[in-house]
Amino acid sequence: MTLRTLDSLGSLEGKRVIVRCDLNVPLRDGVITDDGRVRASLPTLNALINAGARVVVCSHLGRPDGAPDPQYSLEPVAQRLSELLGKPVAFARDTVGESAREAVAALEDGDVVVLENLRFNAGETAKDDQTRRAFAGELAAHGDAFVSDGFGVVHRKQASVYELAEILPSAAGLLIAAELDVLDRLTENPERPYTVVLGGSKVSDKLGVISHLLPRVDRLLVGGGMLFTFLAAEGHAVASSLLEKDQLDTVRGYIAEAKERGVELVLPTDIVVASAFAADAEHEVVSAEAIEQTSFGASGIGLDIGPETAARFADAIRGSKTVFWNGPMGVFEFPAFAAGTKAVAGALTEVDGLGVVGGGDSAAAVRQLGFGDDEFGHISTGGGASLKFLEGKKLPGLEVLGWQ
Ligand code: ADP
Ligand code: MG
Repeated sequence: MTLRTLDSLGSLEGKRVIVRCDLNVPLRDGVITDDGRVRASLPTLNALINAGARVVVCSHLGRPDGAPDPQYSLEPVAQRLSELLGKPVAFARDTVGESAREAVAALEDGDVVVLENLRFNAGETAKDDQTRRAFAGELAAHGDAFVSDGFGVVHRKQASVYELAEILPSAAGLLIAAELDVLDRLTENPERPYTVVLGGSKVSDKLGVISHLLPRVDRLLVGGGMLFTFLAAEGHAVASSLLEKDQLDTVRGYIAEAKERGVELVLPTDIVVASAFAADAEHEVVSAEAIEQTSFGASGIGLDIGPETAARFADAIRGSKTVFWNGPMGVFEFPAFAAGTKAVAGALTEVDGLGVVGGGDSAAAVRQLGFGDDEFGHISTGGGASLKFLEGKKLPGLEVLGWQ
């Protein structure tokens, strides 16, 4: 790993350092409902403050349409950051305008300012290279150096992620370094047995991850909506469960590849089948071979793995040294169908080794089910970015920092 680290920037005392964080937190009525991403940004910000830098924090929040939109203002985030850092944090009402210029000019060594949402400016996410580069150039005027620490955005070629890193002397922050360290352990020489647990809604979303990880793992456990395409590929009827017919051949290919490579592919043996896709739907547990034989017949929908499967998955997870889990085992948003996801999450907290949760909905699921972040070896802050990494894809925001 050749990623440029903070030390490569030399002494930062008195220097203006722009930091790209991922402060894209969930907000309800202007109140932050989960400040995990703000907390994740603290190590780098504290390191820069302690080094005597003048810290200019920038981030996006939500998906405003390239123009100011008050509901996506970063002001509440700046306030929360101030509480967490235990010191005043200035807030600029724009990104490259007068408010930002004045706020940056007023910084003293160790001070912090948060700029307004980067995506209030169309240049941030513009398709056209010139437009992005022009916006990055304006941002660069605020700094002497650039630190990239928004792991959740490194798979995107955007002005504050890519072009800005080309213009200024740049390095990765501590969050990116920590995320990569973990992801590296999942792809290069993982401690064995190595188990990957995949679920979520669709196989088609996870094809890249399956292809890239299949040659590396000892066991692959399949749950979630995608399990029905696996069961169907093995010739079982799945009633009205989620089925991607166009992926049947691909899935048959994975089943054959797993066999060839000696990877233990573990499919559910029992399923919770519901009368409808609803929180209060009636439900029955049946064998994975008898999904159409519930009282709901062909209209039954599989919404969770059954208790026997959940126990087998939990055993396999606990018996592993490295586990990567992506994708809920069932429709955990409905409490009646959350047991499989809860069993897998619980087992992951007991892994004697490295247990990693990746994926946006998976991270939300463990929090919603009452687990604490520190119970897991690692919860990736960047769902999309971590999956892209595990697909073996090149991430522009890392390449520009020297990663190969
Ligand atoms: P992640 O964001 O962690 O990568 P996904 O986006 O792939 O996860 O999938 C999350 C969604 O999968 C959840 O909203 C969950 O309700 C859904 N899901 C899980 N099991 C099923 C199922 N049996 N049928 C339909 N949807 C399912
Ligand atoms: Mg998702």
